[in-house]
Amino acid sequence: MYKTDPTLKKFKLGNIYMAKEKRSNKIVYSFKCPSCQEGKIDIIKSIYDVPDGDKMLILKFVCNICDFHKSDVIPLTTNTKPGIMTLRVMNEDDLKSKIYRSPAGKLEIPELDLVVEPGPRADFYYTNVEGILYRFESAVLIYRNNLDDNDPEKSEIDEILDNLKKAIDGKFKFTLKITDTQGGSYIIPKNKSKYTFKKIEKIELE
Ligand SMILES: [Zn+2]
Repeated sequence: MYKTDPTLKKFKLGNIYMAKEKRSNKIVYSFKCPSCQEGKIDIIKSIYDVPDGDKMLILKFVCNICDFHKSDVIPLTTNTKPGIMTLRVMNEDDLKSKIYRSPAGKLEIPELDLVVEPGPRADFYYTNVEGILYRFESAVLIYRNNLDDNDPEKSEIDEILDNLKKAIDGKFKFTLKITDTQGGSYIIPKNKSKYTFKKIEKIELE
């Protein structure tokens, strides 16, 4: 399944290319911590092999004194296979699964009736499952605040919010689904047994 994409060659030849499932970390740069002003932030670069053969570059920023940390992910190859990615989220660990939704991807949590339609919503681009839940929560709260006090929809919204809170605590089981008709979206599961990818044939596209 390995693609001979020219952008990959330098990684393949360099010392950071690695076998499937393994990460090799390399500190590329460091600077003063913006949080504690004392520690040194190391930028740790690692390449993650996505199960379908593509690669992601993960940058981690970690302070050696305080608990400041941040990370960012850049897809190194473009997943060209349109498909439906499904992740069963059942516990707190699953919430750490990485999600990259390309602008062509539709992201859904069917159990909660929550959908992000394809389009340039940058705040849903790259995050983890927990991040997705927080973004949904704030979007639902904004929606709720715009309803009239006696709107019958309010109790339904409150139930969604209640379930979202449980989900954030890892106490509500749900499915996170990305339908990407062009390819480019990713889910990097914490537990691979909870992840499925179904290729979409052209004929199935709406
Ligand atoms: Zn610090």
